Amino acid sequence: MDNLANIFREKKLKLTPQRIAVYKYLQSTNEHPSAETIYKALQPEYPTMSLATVYKALKTLVEVNLVQELNVGEGNFRYDGNVCPHSHIQCLNCGKVNDVEGICFTDLNDKVKDLTDYDIIANQIYFYGICSSCKQDAKEN
Ligand SMILES: [Zn+2]
Ligand SMILES: [Zn+2]
Repeated sequence: MDNLANIFREKKLKLTPQRIAVYKYLQSTNEHPSAETIYKALQPEYPTMSLATVYKALKTLVEVNLVQELNVGEGNFRYDGNVCPHSHIQCLNCGKVNDVEGICFTDLNDKVKDLTDYDIIANQIYFYGICSSCKQDAKEN
């Protein structure tokens, strides 16, 4: 909590209960939730917090790079409390998003720099597939 206060101070952000709640929730999960999921999860503890407030808190946290926004297609956004570069895989059946660990794509930045003459700042790589529980369901039906 003390740590969070420092992080917010460094980013010159006001430490509002809503921002704290959203940030802490994202730190506590690696499920890459949508804003709606975060909103529902926080409802019991913050019954007066609206979905619009969750969106506003997320927008602020993304702007100061405390949270990563993932565009998983068709205006569908997911949120990640892990802002270190890593890539993601999404299940085409149930929509869940996982981290892809153990592969580093920074080499790709150099390759793309050579090909395009750009200075590369970042890249985002998404993989799509069918997750193990969906594969299991398909087998059982
Ligand atoms: Zn699935
Ligand atoms: Zn992630």
